[in-house]
Amino acid sequence: MSRKHRNQRSGHVMLEQPRPEPPFTVIMAGFVVDLHNRATCPRCQPDGCPKLRAAGLILKVWRARKPHEDR
Ligand SMILES: [Zn+2]
Repeated sequence: MSRKHRNQRSGHVMLEQPRPEPPFTVIMAGFVVDLHNRATCPRCQPDGCPKLRAAGLILKVWRARKPHEDR
């Protein structure tokens, strides 16, 4: 009897989420990033933008979770 037990430890942070992130959140994140490529938003500060950072994190997590095959 052999039990396959996969335990990956590569510094990957597992978020306790029962469901994957809704596409709407990802779409909005992409919109925010796209907006900041051209202009600023009311939340923008000299240090940076919390909204942009949050959006960037969402996109990063989404891409890591579901690799996009771009060809
Ligand atoms: Zn901003």
